Amino acid sequence: MAWSDKSHPHRLLLTKQFPLGLEVLPVFQPVMLAANRIWNSCAWHSRETFGQENRWPTEAELKAKFKSFAAWRELHSQSAQAVVEEYFEAVSAYRKHRENGHLEMSPPGFKPKGHLRTVTWKRQGFDVEGNTLVLKLSRKKNPIRCALPEGWNVVTLPDGTEVRGVPVEVKVKAVVRRRRVENLVLHVTLDLGVVPVCRAGAVSAYDYNSALVARAVSNGRLDLFVCRELLSLVQYRNKIIAGFQEKMSRLKEGSRRWKRCLSAKVRVLKRLDRRIRQMEHTLTKSFAGLDEAEDVAFAVVGNLRGLRCSARTGMKGKKASQKINQMAYDRLRQEQHYKNLMRGIETDTWTERNTSSTCCLCGARNPAWRRHRGLWVCGECGLVLQADLNGAANLLKQYLFGGCADRELPFALREARVWRWDGKLNRFVQVSPRAA
Ligand SMILES: [Zn+2]
Repeated sequence: MAWSDKSHPHRLLLTKQFPLGLEVLPVFQPVMLAANRIWNSCAWHSRETFGQENRWPTEAELKAKFKSFAAWRELHSQSAQAVVEEYFEAVSAYRKHRENGHLEMSPPGFKPKGHLRTVTWKRQGFDVEGNTLVLKLSRKKNPIRCALPEGWNVVTLPDGTEVRGVPVEVKVKAVVRRRRVENLVLHVTLDLGVVPVCRAGAVSAYDYNSALVARAVSNGRLDLFVCRELLSLVQYRNKIIAGFQEKMSRLKEGSRRWKRCLSAKVRVLKRLDRRIRQMEHTLTKSFAGLDEAEDVAFAVVGNLRGLRCSARTGMKGKKASQKINQMAYDRLRQEQHYKNLMRGIETDTWTERNTSSTCCLCGARNPAWRRHRGLWVCGECGLVLQADLNGAANLLKQYLFGGCADRELPFALREARVWRWDGKLNRFVQVSPRAA
């Protein structure tokens, strides 16, 4: 399941997957191959334009150029356009990486001739007839009819209510393992509408750090999530990438050994990514679960933009900036957002300015009171607290009153609960505070 918000921040979009089996491969294969040909045309045309005119062609230019191609006329016009849009997105990402100094990146390239490209049907590209999806192709071709099981458009929310969604996008993806197509999967994105969020209740604040996430609630609750396992997985992933890069740099690009190395890299990373994503999902699910249990109406996460900028300009040490850039905060925040939304909780971002250099209890400010090993020792009121918890409580104060300095905490803090990843149970469990 995935989520995205484009039109409204409380609009809930969820993707359901339906394995289709290999029997339908002959039906979908020509369409997916045509999409692949469009992609390759994009890559070829862009490379030509870049070589001759030293610029990347625009999206509209590419679309206009390919309108007359045979591959374009295989697909529904919106599906064909979607391929160009995806290509364009990939080019933008590549250019952004280049601008940020990642010169080792190469532009999106050609795919092998037989590659089954994911095909997207936008809203006008398909019809719904009961439990059957009618996926349109170009006007002259018969559409593909896809029967789905009963209840395909129903989603059960965490509180047990069933919501019927409206399909807004359909994708067909090939599952390939060791160069063999194992299955085709239909991804149906359902629009569940704008979810009502409750406006009264407690407020919780989250302070994301590389190895710790601190949580503070306006009822005085403090929680500390130890994410060392997650961080070490991410670090291990970087190490693996570096190792493969080193190995592949010594091989001739495109050679048989180079290709073997590349597929090994993809395989290893896929496995690792699955573990990382699973851990991230469990983490954000724990947050949403706690918020729901404590009647939280607003969850606040720190706005990390400022922090990342200072990391890039080298204001922090190299090691620290590496740490900051390692965890996928945006992804975590997005997951937290939609998990909260399913429980009627609103997620908001707020500035983290001064939250790490102010005492959450008395409001006195002094950056030097953040001691070694992440401990906050206030020189004014004598508060001793884990520094990230202090930051989370300040973020909460900032959200409630607009600023955290020169203001006392309006509620008493309870003793912090500490949560750790349990590898056997595959979830975060509460441990004694000393373990942190
Ligand atoms: Zn203090």
